[in-house]
Amino acid sequence: MQQPAPSTSLPERARRVIPGGVNSGQRNVPGLTDLVISRAQGASFWDSDGRQYTDYHAAFGPPLLGHNDPDVAGAVAEAGRKLDLCGVGVTEGEIELAETLVELIPSMERVLLTSTGSEATFHALRVARAVTGRRLVVKFQGCYHGWHDSVSLNVISAPERVGGKDPISTGILPEVLDATLVLRFNDPDGVRAAFAEHGADIAAVIVEPVPHNVGCLLPEQEFLQTLRDECTAHGSVLVFDEVITGIRHGLAGWQGVSGVVPDLTTMGKAIANGYPVGALGGRADLMDQFSSRPGAPVFFAGTYNGHPAVVAAALATLRKLRAEPVHEHVFRLGERVRAELPGVLAPLGVPAVVTGYGSVFVTYFMDELPRTYEDLLANDTGMFVGYRRRMVDQGIFELPLNLKRSHLSYAHTDADVDRLLEATERAVREQL
Ligand code: PLP
Repeated sequence: MQQPAPSTSLPERARRVIPGGVNSGQRNVPGLTDLVISRAQGASFWDSDGRQYTDYHAAFGPPLLGHNDPDVAGAVAEAGRKLDLCGVGVTEGEIELAETLVELIPSMERVLLTSTGSEATFHALRVARAVTGRRLVVKFQGCYHGWHDSVSLNVISAPERVGGKDPISTGILPEVLDATLVLRFNDPDGVRAAFAEHGADIAAVIVEPVPHNVGCLLPEQEFLQTLRDECTAHGSVLVFDEVITGIRHGLAGWQGVSGVVPDLTTMGKAIANGYPVGALGGRADLMDQFSSRPGAPVFFAGTYNGHPAVVAAALATLRKLRAEPVHEHVFRLGERVRAELPGVLAPLGVPAVVTGYGSVFVTYFMDELPRTYEDLLANDTGMFVGYRRRMVDQGIFELPLNLKRSHLSYAHTDADVDRLLEATERAVREQL
């Protein structure tokens, strides 16, 4: 095999052997294709040239405590000295983690661990189809639930694709796309109409209770309650995909905030502060269908499920979240951003709204707060992305991709927020 010349840059070496040079389609960010990350700590990461960025991207959400939290890193190192993967039986850590999640999350009577959120949503839909014997899944325009076929459609859709089936990938069987109905978020009438027409065929409704994959659409209570009521009335399984909202928005997730309790909940990201974890939990009668229980019919497996390092990370994360005022800190900083950014933007004369919840914030360049994905079509994409590129140039990393949200962590400070506000003023002024 030909070795690269010593002078070959790291991005060139990456592109030679990794398609596009990165390990996720979501990391293929125009303008940042040469970014090589070498270190991360607290609220920052550093590139291979030693440049520091204050990180609001936060790897799409996991490090709620900040990067490389010492308690989490210590717990992982300690677990590694004692144990690695044995792939049989159960560890004490897995039991403790399951007990903790069942205690925290209202819908969870039983829980299974996966390595990713996508696996959790995949298994949620599989068990829903298995128990109901039905074919259809309902999702909402703008929600993302991972990379598997049943949900790989209608996330960030171009205006002309809204209202039809808009797969995010080729290679999906048309009959799989046919079996997913796409409805409008925050539209209870649309949900009632879909159930009136297809109720007897709907196995599951899956929803991000706060669609953060398009920034932040805050759910109206009537909408979430309608999902609950229609699923109950028609015997369909309601799945809250709390991969982002779970833990980050409160230890009981959005179901704790809204009081609407789903049948199944999927989680990931913030549970283990950046270590690869997913979880699927819910009603005992549904969860007991999985083949981890002897004789149960719904196949469930994963070589790395419940990996001791990940479990140690999750336990250390949850322990710290319960012991220290993490939510209080990130919510206060989030409130500051949402309260003070509009005051920075207004004098610049650019249409802009700042929204979010808790530690999550996003600035859209449009006149009114959006309620639905369709409203987001008014966002000025050029401004949204251009402004963020100029923030990155100033060492403030808000991911320069349309509609992406930003995150605060326990490691961010008031001084970071001050810098964010100052940098925003400069970035928007330059972009105008
Ligand atoms: N569900 C939601 C709401 C997500 O945001 C994501 C990932 O961003 C997933 C599921 C998939 O999780 P993973 O990337 O861990 O497979």
